[in-house]
Amino acid sequence: MKVLTAVKRVVDYNVKVRVKADQSGVDIGNVKMSMNPFDEIATEAATRLKEAGKATEVIAVSCGVPQCQETLRTALAIGADRGVLVETDAELQPLAVAKLLKAVIDKEQPQLVILGKQAIDDDAGQTGQLLAALLDWPQATFASNIEIGDGSATVTREVDGGLEVVTIRLPAIVTTDLRLNEPRYVTLPNIMKAKKKPIDILKPADLSVDPSPRLRTLKVVEPAARKAGVIVPDVAALVQKLKSEAKVI
Ligand code: AMP
Repeated sequence: MKVLTAVKRVVDYNVKVRVKADQSGVDIGNVKMSMNPFDEIATEAATRLKEAGKATEVIAVSCGVPQCQETLRTALAIGADRGVLVETDAELQPLAVAKLLKAVIDKEQPQLVILGKQAIDDDAGQTGQLLAALLDWPQATFASNIEIGDGSATVTREVDGGLEVVTIRLPAIVTTDLRLNEPRYVTLPNIMKAKKKPIDILKPADLSVDPSPRLRTLKVVEPAARKAGVIVPDVAALVQKLKSEAKVI
């Protein structure tokens, strides 16, 4: 079984982003970029399936600027066998990414595609669902456990009310939640090995996909600053404040 994972290059989760002076977006010049954390979880899950003898090959795919190759190298160091970069300088929105991934999937024919539940830059949380719709494949989102059966996957999903277990036919789309696994620490020998693994580079035109944005950003602004809190001396004062000042918003 081939497994494909989608890995996005995003601003590192430790970076505090700043809005550009012209309000056209956030400033990502000179900030540390990393693999989206949910995509590390996706790549770890795919690698574990390979190590358990359930997957034969793991392919990591990234869409974006040439530097996404670094993100793919990280996926290869975690354990993916090869990478595919769909290279474009275009601003990529979830629908465009889903179309690009669909085109790669049509070529590669994986049985399982694992994405992150959301990318921590735009927090869209849409690509996996759009991709499942474009492919007309079953989907199990927000996975905290994946068991591969005979032609199916049984996925535990983190939903508002608790956990839901669903069994879906393969080929299928799964998106990862935080508790699916803890990605391994990438070791130097594995980083060295990853340098020798192949990365294919394609352009959207090679896949007959027009990645132009469908949405236009009017402006990006910082959230309003929160007022400082107060420390109350004791429980009685807290109860008094709750009675006299607390409001349901
Ligand atoms: P989003 O819908 O943007 O929150 O992203 C959800 C997931 O889709 C991410 O965790 C990735 O697995 C995948 N994804 C989104 N954008 C890209 C991209 N440019 N390249 C590769 N995968 C992506």
